[in-house]
Amino acid sequence: MAELDGNTVITRSLKQQGVDTMFGVVGFPVQGIAAAAQKEGIRYIGFRNEQAASYAAGAVGYLTQRPGACLVVSGPGMVHGIAGLSNAWSNCWPMILLGGANDSYQNEQGAFQEAPQVESARPFVKMSTRPDRISRVPLYIEKAVRTSLYGRPGAVYVDLPNDIITDTIDDSKLAWRERCPDAPQSLADPKAVETAIAALRSAERPLVIVGKGAAYSRAEAEVRSFIESTGLPFLPSPMGKGVVPDDHELSIAPARSHALQNADVVFLIGARLNWIMHFGLPPRFNPNVRIVQLDVAAEEIGTNVPTEAALVGDAKSIMTQLNDAIAAEPLRFSSESAWWGELNQKIEENRELVDAMMNDDTVPMGYYRVLREIRDCTPRDAVICSEGANTMDIGRSVLNNYEPRRRLDAGSFGTMGVGLGFAIAAAAVHPDKKVVCVEGDSAFGFSGMEVETACRHKLPITFVVINNNGIGQGVDELADPPQPSVYTPGARYDQVMEAFGGRGYFATTPEEMTKYLKEAMESSGPTLVNIMINPKATRKPQKFDWLTR
Ligand code: ADP
Ligand code: MG
Repeated sequence: MAELDGNTVITRSLKQQGVDTMFGVVGFPVQGIAAAAQKEGIRYIGFRNEQAASYAAGAVGYLTQRPGACLVVSGPGMVHGIAGLSNAWSNCWPMILLGGANDSYQNEQGAFQEAPQVESARPFVKMSTRPDRISRVPLYIEKAVRTSLYGRPGAVYVDLPNDIITDTIDDSKLAWRERCPDAPQSLADPKAVETAIAALRSAERPLVIVGKGAAYSRAEAEVRSFIESTGLPFLPSPMGKGVVPDDHELSIAPARSHALQNADVVFLIGARLNWIMHFGLPPRFNPNVRIVQLDVAAEEIGTNVPTEAALVGDAKSIMTQLNDAIAAEPLRFSSESAWWGELNQKIEENRELVDAMMNDDTVPMGYYRVLREIRDCTPRDAVICSEGANTMDIGRSVLNNYEPRRRLDAGSFGTMGVGLGFAIAAAAVHPDKKVVCVEGDSAFGFSGMEVETACRHKLPITFVVINNNGIGQGVDELADPPQPSVYTPGARYDQVMEAFGGRGYFATTPEEMTKYLKEAMESSGPTLVNIMINPKATRKPQKFDWLTR
């Protein structure tokens, strides 16, 4: 017989459901939950702002296939946590937001931080709920975790009123729930597998797009084997990078625009035809493009372009089906084809253009020179977090990933301010890996104070701020009043890191940058390299505007 309080029942339930990491900001009424989490063996990392903590929880879900938890106080804290719910919703990542709430017997009386929390979470989650009594908390937590994982992954919200948190119950009266098994992995309809193979067989200009759904489902071995045995050209989505290594000879990433525009059959593996893929529509796509689509969410099939073959289910399992099918009857796309010829020529042309910029030592530096240096000193198995406008966009083509689930960026929601939370999440999930967080100066500013979190927890993260004094493009000097898109020129973000005991470096030349990046990457503690670039630096000329309508 043991009397347990709500804090213990909540955190023990989470632990039983395989939730191992919790981020948050404590205060009324959730301090006890964080303390109990530590006692139950859940790693708790206290943040400085709920937004960053909530982004971190989504990243843990993506990286581990078990939801990360974010703990927030009632009212304003919970509202800040909605940022992470929306980001997880948009990216299809499992996470659980735990929001403290006023005592339920004070509802409608103007209680401290009373707010419509369950209602405000609802549009972004698969389940928004509030346990009605302490004895049923294990049931709610199990259902929340299961809901976040099964089907298309997503966020869930659990509201925790103070009277549940402070209530007590005898252990013998609790019905603990078994850990819910990992998501069931369904296979595609065998007829759809046949149609898919036939479509790819008939293609003259095929293209495989590998998305973060493939990464999430851990389909890397199956996807790679499929691509290698068919010889099909592939393109990773931004976070699909690394499912097949970026330096693989079948990657046509440097010819992205040409490939999208001219492919006649596109095979989407866990990637959506949303704005990132230009909706699958002209002018970015061939108007007659035929789509083979693999997705766990049946309702995603046919979005924007009708689908010829719908492979609904788990990417890892379905890629095994496809591999079995082509083992029985080989499918081989010739490297001598006209399509490969065109693609290889485009790749060469683009390489020459970019190489020139990457080797340009002019001071102040441009993006390509800086990103090349970061690429060359980043370990192959590092996790790369990346955000900022040009910093992220150009980084997508310059910074390579060689392993799956090692790239985190602004993603489907285009969220700026995710970088520090993501980097901390990645360091928590992979204590043995280097985490490199490449930030524009504006992106860094959203949650720059989280470097204190990284220092407090001694996380070996190297932050790199590519500093152009503003959003998009900056200036050398402030006008009066300051221009809307401009931040303090030459801001010393490196000193923010030094303030909390980490190492900060400030670089303005290629020599300084090379030396400091190397030192920072070799350090076992948190470091920040602040690299000044030309405020007017920009991308290579683009064929299409980034938001082509
Ligand atoms: P990207 O940004 O990489 O293109 P998206 O987020 O647009 O990726 O698409 C990822 C897709 O992967 C979503 O539509 C989601 O439903 C799907 N997905 C998630 N998990 C799985 C899985 N286990 N198997 C197959 N598809 C999945
Ligand atoms: Mg900037």
